[in-house]
Amino acid sequence: MPARSGADYLERLREASPEIYMEGQRIKDVTAHPALGNGARTLAALYDLQSDPEVGPEMTYASPSSGDQVGLSFIIPRSHADLERRRTMMTHWARVSCGMMGRTPDFLNVAVMSMAAASDYCGQNRPEFKQNIENYYEYIREQDLVLTHTLVNLQRSRSPLTTALEDRTDVALSVVKETDAGIIVNGARVLATLGPLSDEIIVYPARTHRLPGDAGERYAFGFALPCNTPGMKFLCRESFDLGRSHFDHPLASRFEEMDAIVFFNNVLVPWERVFLLGDVELANGWAEATNRNAHTGHQVVSKNVVKCEFILGLANLMTRTLGSTQLPQVQQMVAEVIENLEVTKACLRAAEVDATVDRWGVMCPPYMPLLVARSLFIRMYPRMAEILHFLGSSSLMALPTEADLNGPLAPEIRQYLDTDTATAAERVRLFRLAWDTCCSSFASRQVLYERYFGGDALRNATVLYSQYDKEPAAEWVQRFLEQE
Ligand SMILES: Cc1cc2nc3c(=O)[nH]c(=O)nc-3n(C[C@H](O)[C@H](O)[C@H](O)COP(=O)(O)OP(=O)(O)OC[C@H]3O[C@@H](n4cnc5c(N)ncnc54)[C@H](O)[C@@H]3O)c2cc1C
Repeated sequence: MPARSGADYLERLREASPEIYMEGQRIKDVTAHPALGNGARTLAALYDLQSDPEVGPEMTYASPSSGDQVGLSFIIPRSHADLERRRTMMTHWARVSCGMMGRTPDFLNVAVMSMAAASDYCGQNRPEFKQNIENYYEYIREQDLVLTHTLVNLQRSRSPLTTALEDRTDVALSVVKETDAGIIVNGARVLATLGPLSDEIIVYPARTHRLPGDAGERYAFGFALPCNTPGMKFLCRESFDLGRSHFDHPLASRFEEMDAIVFFNNVLVPWERVFLLGDVELANGWAEATNRNAHTGHQVVSKNVVKCEFILGLANLMTRTLGSTQLPQVQQMVAEVIENLEVTKACLRAAEVDATVDRWGVMCPPYMPLLVARSLFIRMYPRMAEILHFLGSSSLMALPTEADLNGPLAPEIRQYLDTDTATAAERVRLFRLAWDTCCSSFASRQVLYERYFGGDALRNATVLYSQYDKEPAAEWVQRFLEQE
């Protein structure tokens, strides 16, 4: 089947009807739900881009099995040009949401691609798992499906004396039984961003949360399921889409990607959907061996470039509107946003230029520049939200709504809220966007997302420390010390 349209996506989502709950109610049709429907329509717009007369040709490629034009984020890159094409495609999608939807489907498309391209890794102990991951990749590529994922167990006891798995109540997701039909899994997982808007869920170990050696086999697995599999329930957080207009809540009313806890109540995973089982070492080494995080990093950093550009554009319009562009401290703060953008772009470019063919035959960006860009963004993004606070100050709160602009105080608003460069209505529209970027609950979740979606800062630093080859630098200094 060729790349889907938005209508195809929405229709499948309507028909699937997984068990989704929010605020004590089951949601039967997310596409019609006031708190989720707008997010679904934005995702549909992404799929419509695939046949857009202007950018459509940059969004797809010919499927190696069917010959159909399929989504370009599924491509197994074989050349530098393939990586650049993939980045162009991912940038088009990121721009739709101003970088505010981190988990557009390309994120997991590239993750599954990397695991399938390195399918021999899964087949080491159980040859059938190699075929399973290859089949699954082909299935989601040809059907153009939307995936969500849950990699970590719910926080319960993170004491250094215990492990995330030592838990008498069986919070952690584990395999409770193997049957002829498949494995039975039970427990809870977080955090399924895009969960209620997805066709499928994939579950595998997080790079940052290593399983302890004595964890036991029942916690080491990777599998995927349709979201409407019996026994699986999605519990959504409150929505930030409060049903307000695009004028009032310009981001939340469009880009609610939603996060959900997933409960697995003795869920059957058919054997053909199991990709790894019972081997702690294989589970812990999966991300590194398959270069999964290098590929997802390529998507993340492409999105971060777009997000920086958005903040820069916003900062520029805000300072122009308030007539503050000549203030040195304002220039310094906008310069900081430019630095963030340029550093992020440079890391992305370095990753593409320095890409090499890995042992699986895939053109793979080096992980380091992407990990550095990801780790830096954990600090950059909260700081950029803070910069918007400083640039906007009271204008982020002296902020009428759309109804106010047409209400009894409209004459006063028109008289007092215009600036040298903007009418009152233009100023209010702009600052409502700034407010939704740095002050609203939607904005607050963006900061939390950038801090945690790819693992916490500490564990990322630990990965960086342990994987970076520090020896050449140490040897050089040692040689210097040994000079007469
Ligand atoms: C908005 C948002 C969206 C997300 N979306 C997804 C998603 O789509 N899919 C998904 O799988 N996950 C998602 N996540 C979850 C994300 O992967 C985790 O939040 C992240 O890996 C950190 O895990 P944790 O929340 O369990 O925190 P913990 O692991 O409990 O860490 C919390 C803090 O305690 C410290 N800490 C705790 N235990 C240790 C330890 N043993 N060693 C070192 N430090 C420790 C950490 O430094 C950290 O700062 C999302 C998170 C957020 C906030």
